[in-house]
Amino acid sequence: MGEEAAGTKLRIVCAKCGDTLAPLAHVCPRCPDALPRAEYAEKRFVMQDRGDIFRFAAWLPAEATVETTIGPTVFRSEQLAETLGLTELSVAFSGYAPEVTARNVTGTFKDFEALPTLLYLREHGATGVVLASAGNTARAFAYAAGVLGFPTTIVVPEAAAASVWVPARPTEDVRLIVLAKSADYATAIRLAGAIAARYGIHPEGGARNVARRDGMGTTILEYARIERRLPRHYVQAVGSGTGAIAAWEAALRLQATGEFGDPAPQLHLAQNVPFTPIHDAWTAGEEIEPERDVEGQLRRIAAITAPVLANRTPPFALEGGVRAALRATGGHTYAVTNSEIEAAQRLFEEREGLRIGPESGAALAALCQGLALGWIDRAESVLLHVTGNGDAVLRRDVALRPVPVWRRVPPERDAALQALDRAFAR
Ligand SMILES: *Cc1c(COP(=O)(O)O)cnc(C)c1O
Repeated sequence: MGEEAAGTKLRIVCAKCGDTLAPLAHVCPRCPDALPRAEYAEKRFVMQDRGDIFRFAAWLPAEATVETTIGPTVFRSEQLAETLGLTELSVAFSGYAPEVTARNVTGTFKDFEALPTLLYLREHGATGVVLASAGNTARAFAYAAGVLGFPTTIVVPEAAAASVWVPARPTEDVRLIVLAKSADYATAIRLAGAIAARYGIHPEGGARNVARRDGMGTTILEYARIERRLPRHYVQAVGSGTGAIAAWEAALRLQATGEFGDPAPQLHLAQNVPFTPIHDAWTAGEEIEPERDVEGQLRRIAAITAPVLANRTPPFALEGGVRAALRATGGHTYAVTNSEIEAAQRLFEEREGLRIGPESGAALAALCQGLALGWIDRAESVLLHVTGNGDAVLRRDVALRPVPVWRRVPPERDAALQALDRAFAR
């Protein structure tokens, strides 16, 4: 039955039928349209006495922890809060800025996913992993792979290849595969899936990976640790929406302790005009159609300031996915323009003294829209997620080194696999 020999820390359950799944399962055999979820034996909100992400190890799937500076940082805003007329604005600063104790060494909240994922995989006997990235995930996993010595294959479109650096000497553990002349994350996702199937490498799983989501959810746990309650509103820029699902799940876990009487935070999710599939589907009450007018989608992707948000295949309609999270929390979506993003980045830097990335600018622009529309009440608590600041501060403190390209392959699946057959056979 559901008993897992590997430990009693958690069960993986299907968000739809509730069945217990295998530890590393990404799909329920009965419900392909549902996310797996972690259900922890520890129901109380307990913390370890440490300052990093593993403070919340009870609600991360791996048994093991490692020394790291990576972890969520949450602080109360004064200046920006005053400008916006908010009484309780908190900022989750998930980039790198030692001045606010944020030391996420690849510059974004993708650092919250990588160590928990690789530790969990290792504990369950996986000997490697393959994943796709639009850039930021690649950096986080390339770094974590080096820390843990865990073989990691990463597929990125060529447009993102220049952003794959690590704050350390790159190691042999990483195989970086670049899709020549491509800017499409969805193509990288498909090739990563094909590599997993063909060479028997464990797929990372994206939104279906519980370690990834529970790592991202630590931002809400950190807010709850500090404020002893939940924020009324959670504001984040999304491409896949995995971080938003994670925030919702973390809130559910906190509610289930009985210590927090608050409702789950309302999700406010931002996308960058003209590429706004989650916003469009949510506002029109429709499904996302990733294969419709691909050329047009790629043209729109090329026009956005925050390219990390360009995901054509987000987990929108899945049970336990983005739409479910928006419905359950009474959430909203936003479409913000490049110039709104740039203005928001300037505003944040002026008021908080920290440079932020375009995705974080998109979140702040959405917060401004939400206030103007009356969807966010100025007297209510808001958690603004600054999901990253890239290398804006990092490069001041650390030498950043490019991850060498292992293979550059054509973006067409069959041609790519033909080229890779030889490489993986060696
Ligand atoms: C990945 C990423 C996002 C989008 O996150 P999702 O929740 O997966 O959609 C936002 N900001 C930054 C900096 C990111 O790296």
